[in-house]
Amino acid sequence: MAYVIAEPCIGTKDTACVDACPVDCIHPKKDEPEYEKEELLYIDPVECIDCGACVPVCPVSAIFALDDLPEKWASFTALNAAYYGK
Ligand code: SF4
Ligand code: SF4
Repeated sequence: MAYVIAEPCIGTKDTACVDACPVDCIHPKKDEPEYEKEELLYIDPVECIDCGACVPVCPVSAIFALDDLPEKWASFTALNAAYYGK
């Protein structure tokens, strides 16, 4: 299981979660070339250690544990993984 970033990140994308993550598994960061192209950030499902540290810092509540991900955003699980080719 991993945490997933969903639709509310689109339009905010402030990278607050990046600084909260102890294992650096949220990308793209502001200094990465992909940052301008992507509508939202993504969590690497393999590297994520399920610590939950990113959840409370998100101003728009876009991050969910897989079990808590609203059904309407189910497609974001694959979208996060796809960014990492996983
Ligand atoms: S749950 Fe923890 S490890 Fe996973 S993305 Fe959030 S801060 Fe990083
Ligand atoms: S803190 Fe929330 S809105 Fe900001 S980049 Fe992370 S997921 Fe997106």
